[in-house]
Amino acid sequence: MCVMRKKIVAGNWKMNLTLAEANELLNELNQQENNKPTDVEIIIHPPFVYLAKFAEQLSKSTISLGAQNCSSYTSGAYTGEIAAQMIASCGAKYVIIGHSERRSMFGDTNTIIAEKINQALNAGLTPIFCCGELLSERENNEHFKIVEQQLNEGIFHLSEEQFSKCIIAYEPVWAIGTGKTATPQQAQEMHQFIRKQIASNYTEKSAQSCSILYGGSCNANNAQELFAQTDIDGGLIGGASLKANDFFSIANAF
Ligand code: PGA
Repeated sequence: MCVMRKKIVAGNWKMNLTLAEANELLNELNQQENNKPTDVEIIIHPPFVYLAKFAEQLSKSTISLGAQNCSSYTSGAYTGEIAAQMIASCGAKYVIIGHSERRSMFGDTNTIIAEKINQALNAGLTPIFCCGELLSERENNEHFKIVEQQLNEGIFHLSEEQFSKCIIAYEPVWAIGTGKTATPQQAQEMHQFIRKQIASNYTEKSAQSCSILYGGSCNANNAQELFAQTDIDGGLIGGASLKANDFFSIANAF
């Protein structure tokens, strides 16, 4: 079956950059927005507090906007939380859910992540669902089992129609921010595995249509080899998304 999947390069800015610095990077990105293949979608995920302003600044741009997280609750007395509806009302279209930093430092369990996915979809946002194993889990040869469990408990509760609105990002935790990238073969093997899980939980059509991004020290030097793999449809980029030139080199690596 041959389905054209969406190619995506998403930049996760994490907790970096003051407003002035963030504006400067946004301007640089906006200037370069056409410097990429037309079939590649670029998404940036700045911190929440910049979303509404950035949405205005990107109103004429092809660059899309996303958040890095959302609350598992809809609204109400949850001090400090940000609802998916609020993110959508600011003009963002995407939200990263289940990033390993949220899983390891902020208590996001598979159950909470499933709730966040529901919130995102109810608000009309496209979730970018992150999964990936720890180094110890890979060393114990448990990486497939762990990713399968993350998928089963975090996202496979969705109907096929709901699932069709989601993007998956495979991010081996040992590769995030470490400069250690998964080899293209290791990444391809897991992407293929994820696609197989989608096919057995839903249908082959769903599996072939779902964009699966790779994340973890993906940069201008290694993106080409990674994106050349059959089941890798783009990247979720941390560090290298904070430099406009590097980010656009990655977008041109397909
Ligand atoms: P990195 O981060 O590219 O800096 O490794 C990726 C991510 O955390 O999404």
